Amino acid sequence: KNRAIEQANAVLYLLERAHYQAYIVGGAVRNLLLDLPIHDVDIATSAEPDEVMSLFQVTFPVGIEHGTVVVRYDHVDYEVTTFRSESEYKDFRHPEQVRFVTSLEKDLARRDFTVNAIAMNREGTLIDPYNGQADIQRQVLRSVGKASERFEEDPLRILRAARFVAQLNFSPDVELKQAMQAKNFRIRKLSVERIYQEMTKLLAGRWAAKGLHLLMATGVFSELPLLCHQSPKQNHEVVKIDYRECSSDAERWAAFLLSLDIKDVKAFLKAWRFSRKNENQVQFLIKQFKVFTKKEWDAYAVYQVGIENVRAIERLKKAFHLRGEGQKQCAEAYNERLPIHSRKELKVNGNDLQQWLGRKPGPWIQEWIIRIEAAVVKGQLVNDRVAIKGWVESCHKQKKKF
Ligand code: ATP
Ligand code: MG
Repeated sequence: KNRAIEQANAVLYLLERAHYQAYIVGGAVRNLLLDLPIHDVDIATSAEPDEVMSLFQVTFPVGIEHGTVVVRYDHVDYEVTTFRSESEYKDFRHPEQVRFVTSLEKDLARRDFTVNAIAMNREGTLIDPYNGQADIQRQVLRSVGKASERFEEDPLRILRAARFVAQLNFSPDVELKQAMQAKNFRIRKLSVERIYQEMTKLLAGRWAAKGLHLLMATGVFSELPLLCHQSPKQNHEVVKIDYRECSSDAERWAAFLLSLDIKDVKAFLKAWRFSRKNENQVQFLIKQFKVFTKKEWDAYAVYQVGIENVRAIERLKKAFHLRGEGQKQCAEAYNERLPIHSRKELKVNGNDLQQWLGRKPGPWIQEWIIRIEAAVVKGQLVNDRVAIKGWVESCHKQKKKF
């Protein structure tokens, strides 16, 4: 039996012992049936948030307004959500209304797709009113209820559909696909953050190209921020990329933007609200990819770019189906033979230079360090105090300034 499920069953037990109903729902049940790894277990319960919080020692009220409490039990976190129905969203004006429902069936009805609307109790019995199991068998993604209405209620489901296609290699049923097309413009209402999250998951899916293809076929793709002016030809390039070669979100986004030939990468990353760290990494990868698809690696380039980034760039080349095994081997060999891997490993520092040359501190120090570093990395100079001192003094005599 599955360990994540076993552990979650302990939480179900504690809820049941307090006379509440509790079920495992969503992705955990779906992935269990698909024999895929389970990342996190979501729990649905008849207990209300404050009741959940009083039952467990460590809880976090992360989404209490939606009825969600995170419970930490035996070092594992669970999202425990009180049974609720969809209508709670719409009745903003009547907050005093009862927001939670008492039955699991109503809770399952508000879920997005049939494969995500299966519940499992502690005995392992499945509650599957929308025939999610049959859809899992057929590998079909189908909305719970009328797709166009469900997309109307929450347009994020349009992107979630493509994301699940990319993760699971499912096909949308006809109605779902038509509704994606009919409601594609609705995604304009979504916050960029939510779009970014879904697209990041989609690109990381094993069948990312299939998800992207679906977005394009339904016209959703050109509703995404800053992608409305893309030509169909360019879009065709996007689905040709093998994202499986990439090993991080930054690499996948770099591949995505490169394939679209986005001119103003910076503006795109800003508009999509990339974190500063991701923004820098994606920009760096794009820039270096362009350089090193034209130019071969040498020792100094490997040193400057850093071996981790070199490997990332080589993975990007593979994603673009560029032959690069030779280049990768070369870069690895250069890296093996590098006398130093960072400036800190140089046997001299600014103080030494000041002493040797009898000059006051200034920007000249940095310039010398860079010169020494380059000479050492290129194998023209040994990383040794005496050797470096001799080299610096003779250079200094030959020419006061470079
Ligand atoms: P993952 O493996 O990414 O966690 P998941 O199916 O568990 O996949 P979550 O985003 O964690 O996805 O959501 C948990 C469950 O909540 C879903 O399976 C689905 O039943 C329901 N759900 C989440 N978001 C929505 C939504 N926008 N509309 C309807 N139901 C949703
Ligand atoms: Mg989940």
